[in-house]
Amino acid sequence: MNSSIREILKDKKRIVIKIGSSSLTHPETGALNLTKLEVLVREISDLHNMGKDVIVVSSGAIAVGRRAAGLGHRPSETKEKQACAAIGQARLMMIYQKLFSEYNQLAAQILMTKRTVMDNLSRFNALNTFQELLKLGAIPIVNENDTVSTYEMQFGDNDTLSAIVAALIDADLLLLLSDIDGLFTDDPNSNPNAELIHVVEKLDDHLLKMGKSTSTSDVGTGGMASKLTAAKLASAAGTDMVIANGEDFRNIHRVIEGQDCGTLFLSHKKDEFYLMDYLEKML
Ligand code: GLU
Repeated sequence: MNSSIREILKDKKRIVIKIGSSSLTHPETGALNLTKLEVLVREISDLHNMGKDVIVVSSGAIAVGRRAAGLGHRPSETKEKQACAAIGQARLMMIYQKLFSEYNQLAAQILMTKRTVMDNLSRFNALNTFQELLKLGAIPIVNENDTVSTYEMQFGDNDTLSAIVAALIDADLLLLLSDIDGLFTDDPNSNPNAELIHVVEKLDDHLLKMGKSTSTSDVGTGGMASKLTAAKLASAAGTDMVIANGEDFRNIHRVIEGQDCGTLFLSHKKDEFYLMDYLEKML
């Protein structure tokens, strides 16, 4: 049954892929893992060559900037994070541009803040930009505009941002690549008997409670709780979601080929879904 459900993933046309900082960097040094990035870019380029619209939500600005600036500690002060993001986002895009151009792909950058989606006009403009970029055959690479977003207008984590982007552009699939294989019956870091859940047909309160923070990463911000919040939004918007391990970016084609990889959350589109109502409750 699991494998036949997975068949639906083969037909997904518009796909948002979220990559966490921990999947892009070497844990020992915090520097970018270029070998992995090459695989990532090749996988995404191939999806695009298959005729799919691919939108990337990439973290890493702060982690890359912190390393570039030689900061020994994880920045905690807002201005420190903002400065690291300013340095790191430019570096990250430079590398994405280089790698994507090797595969003849057009990469584009979109930086958003909470204000972009809360304000009706900005949200409308952002949607138009996404649509135009996809029409041009570009691959939008999205991040929060950390350099100018302070806590009162922050999404907080890119899991939430990626679900908002997926809902905004009416994506068919949201793929969260993280430092964990998927959703488990318990925290696999503390319970060796925890089992991977392959398919979540309905995200109920019991499952939401299981989303206690399980991320132990030193670089990302979203734990399992934020991924389940993303799943809730994606489901209401009619977007199926998969959480898979970003340790191996070849998981991207495994998921799209319908292989049993990660946790698939089936969507239940709410007829009355209106993104703005959702955002008001969430953000
Ligand atoms: N926007 C942050 C960055 O690029 C990451 C947020 C997150 O990992 O959720 O560094």
